[in-house]
Amino acid sequence: MLIGGFVSAAGGLDKAILRADENGFEVAMFFIGSPHSWKLPHLTDEEARKIRDTQKNSIVKKTYAHALYLANLATSNKEQFDKTVKALTTTVQNGNLIDLEGVIFHPGSHKGTSIQEGIKRVAEGTTQVLSNAPGTTKLILEFVVEQGDKVGTSFEQLKQIMDLVPNEYQSRVSVCYDTCHGFAMGYDYKDPTLMQKLVSDIKNTIGLEKLDVFHVNDSQTPLGSHKDRHANIGKGYVGLEGFKALLNNKNFKDKDFILEVPGLDNKGPSKKDRELLLSLIN
Ligand SMILES: [Zn+2]
Repeated sequence: MLIGGFVSAAGGLDKAILRADENGFEVAMFFIGSPHSWKLPHLTDEEARKIRDTQKNSIVKKTYAHALYLANLATSNKEQFDKTVKALTTTVQNGNLIDLEGVIFHPGSHKGTSIQEGIKRVAEGTTQVLSNAPGTTKLILEFVVEQGDKVGTSFEQLKQIMDLVPNEYQSRVSVCYDTCHGFAMGYDYKDPTLMQKLVSDIKNTIGLEKLDVFHVNDSQTPLGSHKDRHANIGKGYVGLEGFKALLNNKNFKDKDFILEVPGLDNKGPSKKDRELLLSLIN
């Protein structure tokens, strides 16, 4: 189990790695470029080498990127779909250069068409990106809250998307489970029955091996609220008891845990947030 968090990439990705290192994060997540702009940087070989060297000299064992917020592969709008494919391609290409594990993205919104059509488009876009950007970096589908026309709001839907991706790319698609999103969709980790349901829902759909990473967030809103409002660990409805149950569940012991919380100092996740999680492990 690696525990780390989201870090700012201000000043460059090597700085992001240094920030993770300072906070004791064994796993780091960052944006590559601005999350609000379609214009993304292309790392040069020299920049990539500097980032890899910085990581080698740090405690950071794995890195993930979060896709830009504008990304939407589920969309029925062709222009938005094409822009997303292009942006995710660049992000995965950059990832390949720095041995990034994967690019975590929200599948998006089907825009008044249907879940099934959205699922098909996400699979199509995922396939295009992975074929455009050969390498080892994965595309990782995030479990999201069911709101409006969102796609990817259950393990069943995520499984359907992955099943439509051709065999040759299967090793490069996986899932990120956000503890706040899942709680908002009815999984209460401190309730043994619901915890068991989470595990069996995963086993009966994507399989435990396709779950690579957790986004670790408490929730400002109650169980089943269908709202996505992150809170600091223990300061929301999931509660310390809920995280204790998750972190000590044997099914999740080889997964990566990435804090995405506002932070105890309100400056994003830090050492203190990580230490709080560590204190919950038996
Ligand atoms: Zn998340």
